[in-house]
Parts: sequence; C-alpha cells; structure tokens
Amino acid sequence: MEFSAASTSNGGVWGFLKFTFFFFLLLNLVGFLFSRNGQGGTNKSLFGIGQSNARIYSEGTMDVTFDDVAGIDEAKTELYEIVDFLQHQTKYSLLGAKIPKGVLLVGPPGTGKTLLAKAIAGEAKVPFFSISGSEFIEMFVGVGASRVRNLFDSAKKQAPAIVFIDELDALGKSRAAVGGFMGGNDEREQTLNQLLAEMDGFEPNTGVILLAATNRPEVLDPALLRPGRFDRQIVVDRPDKSGRLAILQVHARKVSLARDVDLDKLAARTPGFAGADLANLINEAALLAARQNHTVVVMADFNEAIERILTGLEKKSRVLNELEKKTVAHHEVGHAIVGSLMPGTDRIEKISIVPRGVGALGYTLQLPEEDRFLMIEDEIRGRIATLLGGRAAEELIFGKVSTGASDDIQKATDLAERYVTLYGMSDRLGPIAFEKAQQQFLEGMTNPRRQVSPHIAEAIDREVKAVIDNAHQIALDVLSHNCELLKKLAQTLLEREILEGEQLRSQLGLAHKTADMEQWLQTGKLSHNKLLASSHGSNGRLC
Ligand code: ADP
Ligand code: ZN
Repeated sequence: MEFSAASTSNGGVWGFLKFTFFFFLLLNLVGFLFSRNGQGGTNKSLFGIGQSNARIYSEGTMDVTFDDVAGIDEAKTELYEIVDFLQHQTKYSLLGAKIPKGVLLVGPPGTGKTLLAKAIAGEAKVPFFSISGSEFIEMFVGVGASRVRNLFDSAKKQAPAIVFIDELDALGKSRAAVGGFMGGNDEREQTLNQLLAEMDGFEPNTGVILLAATNRPEVLDPALLRPGRFDRQIVVDRPDKSGRLAILQVHARKVSLARDVDLDKLAARTPGFAGADLANLINEAALLAARQNHTVVVMADFNEAIERILTGLEKKSRVLNELEKKTVAHHEVGHAIVGSLMPGTDRIEKISIVPRGVGALGYTLQLPEEDRFLMIEDEIRGRIATLLGGRAAEELIFGKVSTGASDDIQKATDLAERYVTLYGMSDRLGPIAFEKAQQQFLEGMTNPRRQVSPHIAEAIDREVKAVIDNAHQIALDVLSHNCELLKKLAQTLLEREILEGEQLRSQLGLAHKTADMEQWLQTGKLSHNKLLASSHGSNGRLC
C-alpha cells in the first residue's frame, strides 16, 4: 500500500498482526515504478553552537493539559504520579520516596508522546525544556555534550521542571550496535556519556524529571535503561476504537460539525491511525469543507479526507492511454472479486481508476468494520490471494503482465514470509520462529532472520514461494471462474471511473467461490491435478 509515507506500518504492536495494519484498509495501488528519493540532509543553522537550543516553554505558555490527550488512558494514569510529585514534592521527600528520574515513553510515531510530556508540564505548571535527540548530534565535536550540560543546568535552575528528549534513539543508540565504520560516531558517544553523567549527577528529588520518547526501544544503549536512569518505561500505543473516538472528540472541538457526522463511525473506519493521523483527518476534512464554502464539516468531507490520507490527492492531470486504463481497470476489479470471496476480509468500499498520490493509477479501497487483533491462517491466505488478484486478472485478460503489480507483489511476499517465519503457519517448517521479532514500533522494516543453517534457509525460501504460488493459483482459479463478471465490472469501471458502495457490493455479490479455493483456504494445499498453467507468456489468455 503505497501510502506508506503517511502512516502505514509493517511493525505491528498488536502482537501477531505484525504485518501491515493497513491491510485492513486494503488498498491496492497499481503503480509505476517511480523511484522515491530518501530525505535529503537537513540544513541546520550554525548559530548558537554550544548553547542548548532547547526551547523553553515557561509557565503559562504550556497550556496543554491531560484533557487534550485522549485514547491512551493507561499511559496517562501512570504519569499522573509525576504531576503529583512535581506539585507536592515535600510530601514525597518527607516519606523518603524516590520519584523516578527518567521516564521513557515508547511507541509508534504520532501517538502523543510529545503531547503527553507537554501535558505533564502543563498540568504541573512547571517549565518545559524540549530537544530532539537528532538535534544533539552535531558535526562539531564537543558541542553535543556541552548542549546536554547547558540543558540540565538551565533545568536545574528552574526546577521543578520537565526536560523532554524526543528521538532518544538518535542519541542513545547501543554502542555495540553502532560500531564499525558506518555508524561509529564519537560525537554521539560523547553526548550520550554526558547525558548519562548528568542523569547520575542529579539527586532523585531535585525536581527535574527527564522524559524521553522513542519508537525504537530495542536499539537503545542498555546503559540508558539502568536503574536510576530511564528505569521506567511507559508504552504509548496506537489507540483502539474507543481511543480513536476519544481523540476525534478532542480534535473535533475545534471545528463545526454537521449533524450527519458520526465520529463513532469514523473511529471504526480508521484502525491503525495514531493520534496525529486522526488530528490530521479532522483538519483535512475542515479544509475540504472550506474549499467548498460549507459552513460546517459534513460526513462526506471526512470520507474524502480518509481516502486522501490513505491514497494521496487525486491526480486528474495524469492521463493514461487506453491500454493502460484497461489494464488498471481489470487489475483493480481482479483485487475486488478475489477480495470479496475471501474470509474475514473487509468490506470493499470503492474501486477507482482515477490516479491518486505518488504513482497510484488506480486502487481498491477496503474499509474494516472493526478492529482486529488476531488473524486466522485462512484469512492470511485470503489476503495474499487478494493481493495477487490484480496481477492474476492481467494475466487472464491480456496474457501479459504489467509493472503495476510490483507493490502488491512486495506486500504479498512480506506477508507470506511472515506466515512462514513468524507465525509458524507452514506445516513443513512448523512453529519455529525464524525471524527475530524486534522492530516493535517501526514500520516497513523487516526483522532480521535468526541464524539458520543454509539447509533451513533454503527450506524457508521454498515454503514462502509455495505459499505465494498457491495463492497465485487460487487467484487465477477464482478469476477464471468469474471471467464474465470480471470483464463486465471492468467495462463499467472504465465508463464510470469509480464504482462504490452498495451498488459495487451487489455486483461483487454475484461472484462465486470455487471448490479449489475452499479447499486451499481450509488446508493451505492445492489439489495438484488441476493446476492452471502459468497463464502469461505463450499460453496466452485464459479468460
Ligand atoms: P509523538 O511524539 O508520539 O510522535 P505527538 O505528541 O507529536 O506524537 O503528536 C502529534 C500531534 O498529534 C499532537 O500534537 C496532537 O495534535 C495529535 N495527537 C497525537 N496523539 C494524541 C492523543 N493521544 N490525543 C490527542 N491528540 C493526539
Ligand atoms: Zn494491485
């Protein structure tokens, strides 16, 4: 799903669902192979080297409170204690209680870690010093360390105070992990050492509390996590449905909503969205409403905003030639038909061949009706087949394939690999983890494989390929049994560009299952006697 730049994830915090959250918003984009450049370097001003450029929010300007933070109640509850400490220090010192010096907020980007830190300062009405770990890393030796010193000096002077370090991982990467000439960075190490020294140097009850945030706890230097340093970790996770509703309510206070806006429905349709995504959703919807000179934001604005966040802006200017359009239309209908027959899949909301965003020439939008926390093996098989449905349709209709399926293939392969190496769902290899589950919160990163013998590595590859091949066969099988529907829907899509809602679903309701598909979903195995020949190339069309 090409919208990865926004907030797609491969790393699931939801236990088993370590694959794309947005599978639930299964969105299959036909894309050209646009190369996307990484971010360029940042241009940092050279002024003020050595001065801590922590922004200081003095009392009164930090007007964020816990009321502004929603959907992460456990984290909030844990942090109330800190507020209480900042407000009633003597109570704690009389008791001899030691308040933690360092609290590490761990969780995916945009879940409200910075907001929480600000809210603590706002609630306790204490100054807030914040700086980002990457800002510490300067090109000039010695500067990072002196910044740390300055930061703590100022904080101590104004205690009680909160010091917040964002992206702690930029600063506190494990020294063991960095090593080597690629990442070895003296500067970072000195800065880290200074931070450790500062943390050890101040007495527990000086009233300075250090908060830090990271989405990569696994790379942190263990020295940072020792008692007396960041010895308390609080997980700030993506919100569940009721959490999303609460966050939407907080942000909806700022806009005028029409009567028809159902925040509950929006919360249901946005699994995987973090707080920042939801804030963005509200804002996008308001912008859309303003553009149309509405006086209030209506539900349709929200629906369009969700789509826009997932797929990018409509690109009416990207004109496809006739063959391309036909290819895209059949490809998308292929996803939709296969998807509509698979178990546990989300409702297919829309198929479109209006180009959107970066490289998407068409897409199939599936929206979930509820949060899912577990997936059963047949559902995973079904998702892989659905992903390959686009490619299969191209094969059946044209006898040739296009580059448009690259993203689908990537995702299907990732999922098949997880099926085998992480979920232990392959009969042949059994429930052994071949992947190290490490990246908890970072998206789009694959986990390193465990050390396995070459023999096992080969077996894994063979299994992954078998899973993909079988799913591909099933997609071909299903579509060739629904050939007429495929052609008819693609034709309608070419005429109208967009098919959606009940009308689309009633059409898809005409698709029928096949015996092979049912058997494969149940067992993961094909009845090998009637495999479809590889249908592209000389064999030509099957449909
Ligand atoms: P993080 O530090 O975890 O990356 P931020 O705290 O910077 O995320 O979140 C960015 C913005 O997203 C916030 O300023 C806020 O508007 C919104 N937001 C994120 N999480 C929440 C939440 N739990 N409740 C309300 N708003 C949130
Ligand atoms: Zn596709």
